[in-house]
Amino acid sequence: MQITVLPGDGIGPEVCSQALFVLKEVAAANGLSIETEEHLIGGRAIRETGSPFPQATEAACKASDAVLLGSVGDPEFDHLTPSERPEIGLLKLRKALGGFANLRPAAAVPALIDSSPLRREVFEGTDLLIVRELLGGLYFGQPRGFAADKGEAVNTMRYSAAEVERVARVAFDAARGRRKRLTSVDKANVLETSQLWRKVVDRVAAEYPEVEVEHLFVDACAMHLVTDPTRFDVILTENLFGDILSDEAAVLTGSLGMLASATVGGNVDLYEPVHGSAPDIAGKNIANPLGAIASAAMLLRYTGRCEKAAASIEAAINKVLEEGYRTADLADANSTVVSTEEMGRLVAERALSATEPITASNAA
Ligand code: NAD
Repeated sequence: MQITVLPGDGIGPEVCSQALFVLKEVAAANGLSIETEEHLIGGRAIRETGSPFPQATEAACKASDAVLLGSVGDPEFDHLTPSERPEIGLLKLRKALGGFANLRPAAAVPALIDSSPLRREVFEGTDLLIVRELLGGLYFGQPRGFAADKGEAVNTMRYSAAEVERVARVAFDAARGRRKRLTSVDKANVLETSQLWRKVVDRVAAEYPEVEVEHLFVDACAMHLVTDPTRFDVILTENLFGDILSDEAAVLTGSLGMLASATVGGNVDLYEPVHGSAPDIAGKNIANPLGAIASAAMLLRYTGRCEKAAASIEAAINKVLEEGYRTADLADANSTVVSTEEMGRLVAERALSATEPITASNAA
């Protein structure tokens, strides 16, 4: 498997190197061959090449089986207009790979129940998957930009029925393999794009009679996520709503640093933690690498098609947390605080100790 690694900015390189370390160790233990090549994106790419998404990066990504990304964004470029900033590199990357469905799982980890801002009895048992449309809506719609005098600005929310249908299918397929409940989130009382969204989702739903479907306005969904998160299984929503709701779901788990994501449906799948470049803690070796490591597990599951390897990483993450190890973002009086690097090493060790050595009889 050829993997392009894009460490990016801020804590991106720190969490990415731990994800890569765990990925390589676990892949080797499971007999999977992995080749990796590192490339530039974001602020570091602007500094070194003048572009947030250089051509060499794009070519390498397109030629690989999967891309593993850290994070993008650097306050040094905050004075630039949105279309010149490092984050544009991420939008261009997503567009180049063509993945239109972003999968973001958020589940209550037993060892972290008390780190959640929600009461134990509200959060316990939460296990949801947000499927966010990633290539349409307000982030890509034209026209966009500032008026000449900068006194006015415009962004456009636009969706075609085909764009809604293809992401809806990913969500229904996921729901079919889970608890068979799908919540489609929109703002159909105000937005025409949402009215189209709802109509298309109902049409696709007819092909999945075993999946129970509900429609929810985004404001109601935001409220239910904090009052009754266990009611959700798969949440399907458009780009902007998904961006906001998935961050809300992320903090329910105790730290934004815990959440992984996969972007599928295009030519090359993209794996990245949900969090940003966290400039406030960058370079201190204190960032939580578990979201990035869990993204590497998703890579092994979806691109590597090795469920055993993916599950061994996820089990190792739970084990390390059960043993009381925490990075600073999740630390409490009873935990052992470890650095980003130590957390990566612990997860790799636990994953390997649970993996049967490869022998002639169990080799794939
Ligand atoms: P952020 O996710 O970077 O940080 C929000 C808060 O969460 C900060 O207090 C940070 O310290 C903490 N945090 C985030 N990840 C953590 C981790 N792994 N371990 C411990 N703590 C963690 O969001 P932000 O501050 O709004 O954005 C910072 C920069 O990142 C901006 O330039 C933004 O545009 C960019 N960004 C990039 C992505 C991405 O690359 N996918 C996503 C979101 C934001």
